[in-house]
Amino acid sequence: MSHIAELIAVGTELLLGNIANTDAQMISQGLSELGIHVYYHTVVGDNPARLRSAVEIARRRADILITTGGLGPTCDDLTKQTLAQVFGRELVFDEPSAQRIRSYFQRLHPDRPMTENNLQQAMLPEGCTIFANDWGTAPGCAFEAEGVRVIMLPGPPRECRAMFTHRALPYLRALADGTIVSRTLKIFGMGESSVEALLRERMNAMTNPTLAPYAKEGECELRVTAKAPTQEEAQALLLPKVEELKARFGALVYGVDVPSLEYVVLEGLKARGLTLGTAESCTGGLIAKRLTDVSGASQVFRGGVVSYTNEVKHGVLGVPQALLDQYGAVSEPVARAMAEGARRALGCDLALSSTGVAGPDRDDRGNEVGTMFVAIAAPDGTHVRPLRLGGRPVRDRLRTQTAHHALDLARRWLSGLPLED
Ligand code: ATP
Repeated sequence: MSHIAELIAVGTELLLGNIANTDAQMISQGLSELGIHVYYHTVVGDNPARLRSAVEIARRRADILITTGGLGPTCDDLTKQTLAQVFGRELVFDEPSAQRIRSYFQRLHPDRPMTENNLQQAMLPEGCTIFANDWGTAPGCAFEAEGVRVIMLPGPPRECRAMFTHRALPYLRALADGTIVSRTLKIFGMGESSVEALLRERMNAMTNPTLAPYAKEGECELRVTAKAPTQEEAQALLLPKVEELKARFGALVYGVDVPSLEYVVLEGLKARGLTLGTAESCTGGLIAKRLTDVSGASQVFRGGVVSYTNEVKHGVLGVPQALLDQYGAVSEPVARAMAEGARRALGCDLALSSTGVAGPDRDDRGNEVGTMFVAIAAPDGTHVRPLRLGGRPVRDRLRTQTAHHALDLARRWLSGLPLED
C-alpha cells in the first residue's frame, strides 16, 4: 500500500517570512527516498484554532501527518496539545523524557536551575512512540489514531534533521513500500515551454518513470522520476529514459545531476588541464562570481577584469581605440578583442567576454536593451555569439542570461561540441 504524507510546519515566523521552511524541504526529500508521496505542505502560525483546522484538512487527504515546531516549553508551543486534542489523546507525563531534559540542562547550564516549564516538554500523548531527543530538549513522538500516523518533530533545523534521520525514518521505513529516485537533465538554450511542447505527448504517456520540466533562471531542468521496490530497480528504469532524452536534446543538455553550468565548465577545465579568465562589461563580474562560487575554482580560474568603461577596455585589455570608436563598446569586434585581450592579460588558455546593453535604456549608439555579445578566445581562435535577448528586459535577468551564454560557450568548447547549434 502506498502512503501519502502531509507536512505541517508550525511557526508564525515562517508565515512572516522571517525564516524559510527548510525543515519541510529536508523531510520531503527523505520521504521521497522512501517512496512516500507528499502532496501538500502546510504552514500555520502559533495559533491553536488554525492548527486544528489545518490538521482536520490534512487528515482527510493523507495517512501520515508530520508536524515540525511548537514542541518547546513556551506558551506558543502548542503542537502537542492541539494534536492530542484533535485525535482524542491525553497528554501524560513521561518520567524518562523528564530525566533527559533535566540532564540536558545540567550538562549545558550546571550553575543555573532549570525552570519548571521545561518539563512541559515531557508531557506526551498517551501510548505514543517517544523519539528521544539527543540533540536538544523537546522529545518528538509518533502515534497512530483513526488510520492516521502522526509524527511530531522539533522545529530547530539541526534538531529536526537529526530527529527525522535517526528517529522518524526508521519508524517510517517499516511502513514504506518502495523508493523514488530522480535524475535531472540540465538544459540550456531552450525554454521550459518549448521543452514541454516537444515532450507533451511523451510526458502524458509516461507513468513510471514520470517526466517533468522545471524552469530555472534562464535554463530548464527535466526531472525523470521512477518508483520501484529498490534503488537499483529504480535506476534501471531511469537509465533508458535518461539516454533517450540526452539523445533528443543533444548538445543542449549540459549535464545530468550536475549542480550548475559553471560547475560543468570548471570540471571540463580540470579534466583538460586548462585555465580560464574573464573580461566582463555588461555582466559586471557575474561570470567570475559564479565560477568562484564553486569551491576549488582557483585550480583553473585565473581571474577576471570588470572592464566597464572604454578606458579599461582599452587600457587594461588592449582593445584598440579604433574599434571602440568605429563600432562602439557593444559590438562583435569589441567582444572579440576583449576576450583576446583577457587571454593575453591574464595568461589563461581560454577567456570569456561579455558586452551589451542591460538597460533600462538603450545605449548612446541606439542599441536596444538586450543587445549582447559574448565571446570565447581559445588557442584555436575566437568565437563571438551575438544575442538579442527578448522577453521582459529586466536588468538582472538580462545579465544572468548573458552570463549563461558565456559559460555555455566555454562548456561547448571544452566538450568539443559545435559552439552554435
Ligand atoms: P524549541 O524547543 O526551540 O522551542 P520547537 O520545536 O518548539 O523548538 P519552534 O519554537 O517552533 O520549535 O522553532 C524554534 C526555531 O526553529 C525557530 O525559531 C526557527 O528558527 C526554527 N524553525 C522552526 N520551524 C522551522 C522550519 N519549518 N524550518 C526551518 N526552521 C524552523
